[in-house]
Amino acid sequence: MTQATIITIGDELLIGQTIDTNSAFIAKELNGIGIWVKRRLAIGDVQEEILNALTTESKACDVVIITGGLGPTGDDITKQVLAEYFNAELRVDEGALQNVKDIFSKLNRPLTERNSKQAEVPDACTVLPNKTGTAPGMWFEKQGVIYVSLPGVPHEMVGLMQDSVIPKLKEQLKLQAIVHKTLLTAGQGESTIADALADFEKNLPEHIKLAYLPAYGMVRLRLTGRGDNMQLLEQETAQQFDQLKDLVKDWMVIDKDMPLEEVVGNLLVEKSKFVATAESCTGGYIAHLITAKSGASTSFKGSVVCYANEAKENVLGVAHGTIIKYGAVSEETIIEMAKGIVYVMNADYAIATSGIMGPKGGTPEKPVGTVWIAVANKEKVVSKKYVFRFDRKRNIEQTALTSLNMLRQFILQEEKE
Ligand code: ATP
Repeated sequence: MTQATIITIGDELLIGQTIDTNSAFIAKELNGIGIWVKRRLAIGDVQEEILNALTTESKACDVVIITGGLGPTGDDITKQVLAEYFNAELRVDEGALQNVKDIFSKLNRPLTERNSKQAEVPDACTVLPNKTGTAPGMWFEKQGVIYVSLPGVPHEMVGLMQDSVIPKLKEQLKLQAIVHKTLLTAGQGESTIADALADFEKNLPEHIKLAYLPAYGMVRLRLTGRGDNMQLLEQETAQQFDQLKDLVKDWMVIDKDMPLEEVVGNLLVEKSKFVATAESCTGGYIAHLITAKSGASTSFKGSVVCYANEAKENVLGVAHGTIIKYGAVSEETIIEMAKGIVYVMNADYAIATSGIMGPKGGTPEKPVGTVWIAVANKEKVVSKKYVFRFDRKRNIEQTALTSLNMLRQFILQEEKE
């Protein structure tokens, strides 16, 4: 099987200032065309480190993808190091120069010598045009190994991978077929699911593997098949996937690799219904998840971030006495919040959240992680208390996903009644 190494370059990656999202994207893309990513390596903008990584990784892999360090500033040295590694001279690429000129003319900014230097490339490379930035991608071949150098800026890297690198790799290499099939479950832990799937997993053919990806009370199950014949592999993986779906049917949310908020959004659109959210402890995060995908206006009315008690009372109509008597994090308050938001937004459904996300604010009766969630329509409210055990950020994420799943179950239950 064709194997690859991804080398991400930049001191910012090593000091934790930038999270290396480039590697994750590239790995997914390579995997999608049947290239196995054997190693991922992050290194600083240091000549010796880059040279060492190129030498070592080219011995272990067929493809080496590099990102970062192509900018016009002094700390960006990747291009010079590549020229040295490939024993090449830097030359101006006329296409890349025109691209730099076009970008600066659109921005109405003067072109400096430093900017023009972005069009210089080692003469040993094939230039991959960058439609969204000034630094071109570069493709090299040496002793049977393909090296690709891409800019570090994520959207530029994405464009180059999709437009040039993936098509060129597919064209040039004889790649193995690879098929992924993923489903999403909710409400069962991975060990219970693993018990239920023990025999299935044991009987899987050698070339099809099952993976468990748990997160926030949900588990994604992924089947990955590898083989030489795509058509046959698709058939075999689909057959195993059907069996898998049947075995987890009680917990399955969807038989696709789709985020929960999109599943709920689709369900609402299918029913021509609208949801609104009243968010105290989630601070608008549920609204953010719902609106992250275009088209949310067909299922989402809006959100009230009712963090202060005053906002719960004045905007949603929660009774002052309820908050005084039971507290903001209580069943009584959450029910009034859910009822309030349905009417304030004239929505079909509501989600309301109120909790103590930490690290401060817990009490013996209501420790950090205590959350009340309610989902409702105009007639009915379902509320539930949870105690999550994470840090603030993960408690917020867990609350948001749990509440979306509660709404999904509420709507499905409504169908049965
Ligand atoms: P350009 O030539 O277009 O300026 P570059 O190749 O010089 O790009 P860098 O200067 O290394 O890229 O990084 C540009 C931006 O991209 C920075 O904000 C950096 O934090 C971000 N970046 C770099 N590498 C990664 C990575 N592996 N994952 C996510 N972001 C990254």
